Amino acid sequence: MIGSERPTVHVIHLYAHDMNVYGDWGNVLTLTRRLDWRGYDVRLTRYDTGDSLPRDPDIIVGGGGQDSGQEKIQTDLLAIGPQLVDLAEQGVPMLMICGLYQMFGKFFRTAEGRTIRGIGMLDIETSAGPERLIGNIVTHNALGDVVGYENHSGRTFLGDGVRPFATVVRGAGNNGLDATEGAVRKEVIGSYLHGPLLPKNPAVADQLIERAVTRRFGGCSPVAIDDRLAALASRVAARRPR
Ligand code: GLN
Repeated sequence: MIGSERPTVHVIHLYAHDMNVYGDWGNVLTLTRRLDWRGYDVRLTRYDTGDSLPRDPDIIVGGGGQDSGQEKIQTDLLAIGPQLVDLAEQGVPMLMICGLYQMFGKFFRTAEGRTIRGIGMLDIETSAGPERLIGNIVTHNALGDVVGYENHSGRTFLGDGVRPFATVVRGAGNNGLDATEGAVRKEVIGSYLHGPLLPKNPAVADQLIERAVTRRFGGCSPVAIDDRLAALASRVAARRPR
């Protein structure tokens, strides 16, 4: 296919400056590369505080950050919250990791007792616990094993409006108590899994891509991609000590 004839998929990287730790940027790279392999051009918009949110994106990705990063973006995120909720209602796929996962929920209460408000798109509540939950994590869902790395003080509890993204096999996940990891509503996935998540778990990337492309173009043809290296990385990560 000639480059200019390829359909374009518009990906937004939310708060790339302040919310982007433990390789979360790799999620954007993976989506970009896999879209290319599937025959799509990618328009990548980096959104930072004060920017205007593009009106009609196809996929939105956001990462984790320090409590301070969360406080820095709070006002801006609350301002664009209604637009994000509207896009989620329209079925736009989104992937939010750790700090932004928490802030797509109702609130994050820090260890010092400060409340960082979220946009409430996900029916979840998070409060910091006494120690951080750190280490390699293995989870499982309908796509298979989903592996990653977690590092968070927040304990997240899910309400009735969401379902877990995965079940914890090894590690802490949402709160270390109920074996749930992450939360899903419509096409929005929130997860604690850094690592980054998508390079080692291409099935999750493909699910986001397939839903975005089907929504935009009315269908999505399967493409054979050699994922042996990704599968090996996933197996090695799953065996690493916690
Ligand atoms: N500050 C949040 C917490 O510790 C988010 C951390 C992160 O994004 N890695 O729970």
